Amino acid sequence: MIQPEGSLSPWEAFHQSLRGRISEQAYNTWFKDLVFSELVDRQLLAVAPEPYFLDYVIVQFGQEISQAATEVLGVGATLSIKPNGNNGGGDRALQPVEPQIPSLLPTKEPTTLPQLDWTSLNPKYRFDNFIEGDGNRMARSAAMAVANNPGETIFNPLFVYGDVGLGKTHLVQAIGNMVNANHPDFQVLYLSSDTFYHHFIEMLKSNRSTDFNKIYRNVNVLILDDIQFLTGKTKTQIEFFHTFNTLYQAGRQIVLSSDRPPKDLEGMEFRLVSRLGSGFTIDLQPLDEETRMAILQNRAEEEQVAIPADVIQYIANNITSNNRDLERALIHVMAMASLMKEQISMPLARRALRRIVTQRPRTVSIDNIQKVVANHFGMPDTKLREKVRTKQVANARHIAMFLSHRLTSFTKKDIGQYFGGKDHSTVIYAIQTVEKKLSVDEDYRQVVEDLSRRLKMSPDQ
Ligand code: ADP
Ligand code: MG
Repeated sequence: MIQPEGSLSPWEAFHQSLRGRISEQAYNTWFKDLVFSELVDRQLLAVAPEPYFLDYVIVQFGQEISQAATEVLGVGATLSIKPNGNNGGGDRALQPVEPQIPSLLPTKEPTTLPQLDWTSLNPKYRFDNFIEGDGNRMARSAAMAVANNPGETIFNPLFVYGDVGLGKTHLVQAIGNMVNANHPDFQVLYLSSDTFYHHFIEMLKSNRSTDFNKIYRNVNVLILDDIQFLTGKTKTQIEFFHTFNTLYQAGRQIVLSSDRPPKDLEGMEFRLVSRLGSGFTIDLQPLDEETRMAILQNRAEEEQVAIPADVIQYIANNITSNNRDLERALIHVMAMASLMKEQISMPLARRALRRIVTQRPRTVSIDNIQKVVANHFGMPDTKLREKVRTKQVANARHIAMFLSHRLTSFTKKDIGQYFGGKDHSTVIYAIQTVEKKLSVDEDYRQVVEDLSRRLKMSPDQ
């Protein structure tokens, strides 16, 4: 498009108009990094970093977006945001307050502890909106106890683990927010292990270990999220171990989260692992339908959107994987309603979730998975449920467990039951073993993907 010199492009004009309509912070968080792609017919097309981002933006700022677009391009103009390339699912979803790598501290020797306002505690993660159910009751009450008396309970360190989307980040940040509220004089440091790692690397590069220690070893509450990220990063682990010891001995509170229990953190320094297991280890499990409904109800109230009961029930009934997917589905429905300018109703919810809900392979049963896998390896499926440990049976069993995890919504604990009462850590081990092989052995990958496809296509063979 040819622009007269000095005038704004439609994209720039759109931004300028939008900036006048929403807060500076919202603009910076959500719109600054959108990448313009093209202008087709009065439709501004842009690329977003995450699909979830897209939902959120539309729900939150749909009105302002269309006002700004209309101002620039006339009635009927819109902004469409496409997710960027990959499927975007998984754990890297929405992080409205992206943890920033702490900028390195002033060169001048600070006399007091440097201000820790770069911690990325998100105020939306609180206990009052962390809905309780059987799957998280224990974890929630341990976390509350810690938040009320940091460093003074038996829950030190508090180690929370569970699958993606079950509420680890929410829960550990709720601790941080509550301590901040009740003890303004306490230094609370929340960060992802990823940030810790990068900070550590920066420290090594710039030789700032004194500053580094000043931060980490003086906090009252240290919350390290997704500690599985540190597996294999030995130096960072050792540094963390020293930090951990210093804090622990000074009676400070340590809170850790991970997607697996301490003993399954491979490549973790042994002494670190045994330390991690020394406090209180507790898992988060998927929630039952009633609790899932309560979460949706609560979210709808927070968003101040009225959602009919049948729609809540429909979502809770169909989205069983985890709480993050649950929320996403809800946001999807709200986004659709706002886009189509319709009331939220069952037909709308069905349309909004068509892809997600039909994709769910609910007809695949673990029985079938066992049959198909055993058959492929030329053995009776009973072998998979027995204690046989020959290499061949173990291999088939690992694959069958992996596929049960992938294709059904059973918890790892339940999957273990189907395999002759193996425990949950055996299932985790099987999944990890298969994942590792998938990434290095192409033939193996073919076999597993083939089995997976066959089961998905005709679950009842
Ligand atoms: P994890 O860190 O385990 O992957 P998150 O803490 O990010 O999971 O949770 C995913 C989403 O689900 C978040 O938006 C969180 O607020 C929400 N969520 C998880 N558990 C609950 C719960 N018990 N009550 C309300 N919301 C929840
Ligand atoms: Mg998390």
